[in-house]
Amino acid sequence: MSDLFDRASDLEQLQREEALARHRRPAAGPSYSHCEDCGDDIPAIRRQAMPGCTRCITCQEVQERSGR
Ligand SMILES: [Zn+2]
Repeated sequence: MSDLFDRASDLEQLQREEALARHRRPAAGPSYSHCEDCGDDIPAIRRQAMPGCTRCITCQEVQERSGR
């Protein structure tokens, strides 16, 4: 019983760390072809200028304004 619980929380922690790593990763991964917020195309020129960008310019600005 406790084994099962340990494994479940291990998995949960692993997933949390993965999510954190993904979140923390600097803008170096492949850029998205579509904005993850609104689904619009992200212009190729923006993807090249901002490696790893995941949002269109509009959503990125909204995100930066609402964030810190
Ligand atoms: Zn967008």
